[in-house]
Amino acid sequence: MSIASTILRARDAQAGHNLAFGLIAVALAAAVFYVDTFTDIEGAIAVLYVVTILLAAQATTRIGLLVIAAVCVGLALLSYAMTHGDDADLQSTIRLIVALAALFVTTMLLLKTETARLTLLSTNSALKESEARYRSIFDRTRVALWERDYAKLRTYLMDVREQGVTDIKAYARANPAVVDHCIGLIRVVAVNEAAREMLGPESSAAGVLRRSIIPGQEKFLDVLQAIMDGKSVFEGKVEVRADNGEDKLVLLSISFPDDPAAFSRVVVSMVDITQRELALNALAEAQAELTKASKAATVGAMSASLAHELNQPLGANVVNSQTLLRWLDRDPPDLAAVRRSAERIIRDSQRASEIIQNTRSLLSPSSKKLESVSLDRLVDGTMALMEHELQRSGTTVFVDREPHIPPVSTVKIELQQVLVNLITNAIQAMDEAGSAERIIRIAMERPDNEHISIAVRDSGPGITEDAKDKLFAPFFTTKATGMGMGLSICRSTLEARGGKLEGTNHPEGGAIFEMRLLIKPEVEHA
Ligand code: ADP
Repeated sequence: MSIASTILRARDAQAGHNLAFGLIAVALAAAVFYVDTFTDIEGAIAVLYVVTILLAAQATTRIGLLVIAAVCVGLALLSYAMTHGDDADLQSTIRLIVALAALFVTTMLLLKTETARLTLLSTNSALKESEARYRSIFDRTRVALWERDYAKLRTYLMDVREQGVTDIKAYARANPAVVDHCIGLIRVVAVNEAAREMLGPESSAAGVLRRSIIPGQEKFLDVLQAIMDGKSVFEGKVEVRADNGEDKLVLLSISFPDDPAAFSRVVVSMVDITQRELALNALAEAQAELTKASKAATVGAMSASLAHELNQPLGANVVNSQTLLRWLDRDPPDLAAVRRSAERIIRDSQRASEIIQNTRSLLSPSSKKLESVSLDRLVDGTMALMEHELQRSGTTVFVDREPHIPPVSTVKIELQQVLVNLITNAIQAMDEAGSAERIIRIAMERPDNEHISIAVRDSGPGITEDAKDKLFAPFFTTKATGMGMGLSICRSTLEARGGKLEGTNHPEGGAIFEMRLLIKPEVEHA
């Protein structure tokens, strides 16, 4: 028999009862009216209308009840008017009042009962609706859910705690049977589709916990500890075994209710993170590989930088040594000139050594010391270093200094290296273009309280359209023997101290590179 037809039958039966109650009530009201009006029986007959109302209450709504009560009152009054209309005496009037009062009180009580019944019914149906909604969410959600009964387990754990046990792990180590006993105390009440998909169709069967909890799994003891400590949630990565024997890593989450009675329906959720964890491990491995590769690239870049930086002092050494030999070959040898050349060789060799040292210190940044560097002296020293190069190329340098430029806190050799690079690039650009007039202008100024700007401008061809966007990219070069590391190293060197390096073409021709330095860098920026 279908549910619908059962409901219809129940409704038919109810309607039949209502009709029977209604007919009896009408018959009774008629009988009471007859006895009250047409017989000589003295008494509060009208009180019997109460029975009519009681019967009618079984078959009608609240409004129906009020109408019937009103009809009964009307009948009682009519009967009183017909029998005592002319000679109303005190006794019959009191009887009427008693009957009316009984009718009123009964109707009120019945209305109140009906209201309470309706409230109860609506609460009940709200409860049923909420349960149905919960069920549908529970069943349809894509998160694997279990409803488990932890009541017995909780009682057991509380008893154990009463005995003075606070660390369940230690207790379980001393009593190996405890874990199995605890698993046996948990009952699976319900399980949803996602849970069946995750652990297999047997997920709700008795004994499923014994299969899914991997022996030696410490996490189960953590769950027990959480219950024992009265925690409201347990969350953790746990390995579980599916029906087919496959182990899965899941994110287990259990919300324990505050009310111990509700431990009979605890919701347990699991999210399969096996694939995510594998992906994360793969990512970590890839990152490690990348770090290795980038370390190798750094070493490569540093060797390239070293070769690039050493080029200049070593070249100068060759030139100075040749000059020295020429002075020696003179007859008589010009010893004063020999001495000057030898001093230059020493200076350039020291510089080469400093460059190597500085490149080495790149590997351990903490060993770099900031010092207070006078930019005037730095520029003059750099000019001296590049004397040969400047002479050879026929380049004139003008230095434009704003007065009162404060010293800058930096690593001297680094800043000098940047300046050497910019000047070398300017010389090379003018050389390559065969510029007739070869001028480098170095301008130092203090644009604001925190910065110093040093601009190096040349009278060469300027930066080509093609090079504009890639100037600072490592290994970008337009020179046949260039390495393309100079500007990239210069920029990162300055940025590491909170500075900047920009290059562009000057409106009046030539390229201009501007360094912006922090007077007092607080920390290393990179
Ligand atoms: P490299 O000097 O080895 O080429 P850099 O990084 O120092 O490497 O320079 C990159 C490129 O920037 C150069 O090849 C050149 O095209 C351009 N460049 C640098 N300085 C100047 C300049 N003063 N004038 C014109 N172009 C320049």
